[in-house]
Amino acid sequence: MIVRKKTRQIKLGKVLIGGDAKISVQSMCNTKTEDYESTIKQIRELVAAGCDIVRVAVNNDNAIEALKKIRYELRDVPLVADIHFDYRLAVKSILSGVDGIRINPGNIGSNERVKEIIKTARDYNTVIRIGINSGSLPSDISNNSFSVVDAILTTSKRYIDLFLACGYENIKVSLKSSDVLETIEVYERFSESYDYPLHLGITEAGTLLSGAIKSSLGIGILLYKGIGDTIRVSLSAEPIYEVDVAKKILKALGLRRGGIDIISCPTCGRTNGDVIGISAELERRIQGIDKDIKVAIMGCEVNGPGEARSADLGVAFGKYDVIFFKNGKIIKKISKNEVIDILASEIQNF
Ligand code: SF4
Repeated sequence: MIVRKKTRQIKLGKVLIGGDAKISVQSMCNTKTEDYESTIKQIRELVAAGCDIVRVAVNNDNAIEALKKIRYELRDVPLVADIHFDYRLAVKSILSGVDGIRINPGNIGSNERVKEIIKTARDYNTVIRIGINSGSLPSDISNNSFSVVDAILTTSKRYIDLFLACGYENIKVSLKSSDVLETIEVYERFSESYDYPLHLGITEAGTLLSGAIKSSLGIGILLYKGIGDTIRVSLSAEPIYEVDVAKKILKALGLRRGGIDIISCPTCGRTNGDVIGISAELERRIQGIDKDIKVAIMGCEVNGPGEARSADLGVAFGKYDVIFFKNGKIIKKISKNEVIDILASEIQNF
């Protein structure tokens, strides 16, 4: 059983982060924020897929104007502005009504500018994520550190001390590296010293497959150790997949209910049907359905009936037809070309 490390709780829009709050899923739009119609559409899709917090890039004044429209249209969506370099954009984003901003204090220019951001955030009760990334550490620290992990930790202390000096602790922290083992070590060591809520992620994790694997390992191991309050799976793929993978990580660890669990066999020389194609097509059709159902798709009579019987819905392929199971009981025989439609409709009605 996973015992979560206690962190202090903050509130980002309607989402609680830290303490005993459920672990939230984040993603980031890949639209140009100034194209607010496309951005609003993508935010709606992400939220429909189960994304709890959505981040958008804000890198110019047109994006600020779009942010105001997005905020107006999507008042209920926990929204975070991602800012680099220009502290004025951070201040304007806060004034636009976002629930949180993500900054790397090291690229904002000076402590005075960071303090300006904090001052405005305090007035609007805006959450600030201190986002530290192994690729952008202060050179005076990285040149004098024993390892990347040490450099990230020293950097985090420097920034947190700055926030503490301003008396502002409405923060969460991320400490990202593209290396899985470094990420695990840095979060573990950080959580021994601080109780700020932690946003987990493996930065620049890669394409859909390799990014999902790295993220599942890095985020999954940390969550298993009780560390982490909110997660993002970074993928070089459409953001909707980030939400899907993140939800699957949480579900696999028993940290979130909901979301259909498809149990499908790997196929072999005994397979009597297109298990791979049917599983992929079914997964596509049921995307966004948040029911807590286990569905088994099994290729033959070896393990098929057993798995299909222990799922909520299941099919086991035979040589000529397919046995359909529901709630552990054989319901009927169906033909191979009916499998997807029948499972999809049973899932809808379950
Ligand atoms: S369930 Fe049957 S078809 Fe599928 S991998 Fe196992 S033995 Fe092969």
